[in-house]
Amino acid sequence: MVIGVELRPGCKRVSYSTTDRNLCARWRLCPACEDVRARRMQAKIARRLQHEVDWANDVGWDLKVGILTTTLPGKESAIRQAGLEQQVDYLCSRTTLPGYTGWHSMRGLNTKLKEWGVMGGSHHIEFTNTSGNWNCHMHSVLVGFENDWNVPLKDCAKWSEWNDDLTMKLVPEKLEVMTRSNKRELSPLGLGRIYTLDVAHEDELARPVRYAAKVSYVTKAMDVKKFNVGLRGEVSDFLAGKPTRTGGRSYPRLARSFGSWSNNPADMLLD
Ligand SMILES: [Zn+2]
Repeated sequence: MVIGVELRPGCKRVSYSTTDRNLCARWRLCPACEDVRARRMQAKIARRLQHEVDWANDVGWDLKVGILTTTLPGKESAIRQAGLEQQVDYLCSRTTLPGYTGWHSMRGLNTKLKEWGVMGGSHHIEFTNTSGNWNCHMHSVLVGFENDWNVPLKDCAKWSEWNDDLTMKLVPEKLEVMTRSNKRELSPLGLGRIYTLDVAHEDELARPVRYAAKVSYVTKAMDVKKFNVGLRGEVSDFLAGKPTRTGGRSYPRLARSFGSWSNNPADMLLD
């Protein structure tokens, strides 16, 4: 007799194999599996950052790491009334860029980041809906070297003190984030003027695992309970993806690496 077992506390799926480590499909909106996904992503970022820290130490250069949060344009913009899928497509779209030739991914943000001396990193798209409208925004891990770093955005987050207790559970500290406004750099890309940029302190980079835990808002699990029933349908449909011409299925990519982070060994890839 085969008995179904709950795979992990709170998981919606019942498995008939104790060795089953698969996560629920995203469209199921399983809080337990979303949580595992978020923690796996956090571990990947920590591993990737450790790799960068080790490399920087080897070559004797100073590493610089920041988390940039970008938003959609202000309420006067039509995209703010759009559906979830359209908003995500908007943030990821390939666009032309004034003063540049060709097409540029992520609305030109990747091109700008490269220009600003950011070597690589990853984008993580998050969406909330508390007012009836979707509100997509993006957290991006930016990695570069101090000497190249020329990001024309101000560091604007104040972290509360990190409790240096090795036995403590790694819980992100409550942030005191000061948003800033920048018309010149982000608006031409079609992004909102409002942003935050948190640059890591030197001592934080000494321990990437801890740093990744601290900035876990980057990879925060989707809070399924926050979506009302009507919205859950839209989220589920969106995450279920679309059939491709070749008979497969394409799923929305809510995490994307760029620059040096997108051409590395498979275990370093974030998406
Ligand atoms: Zn599950």
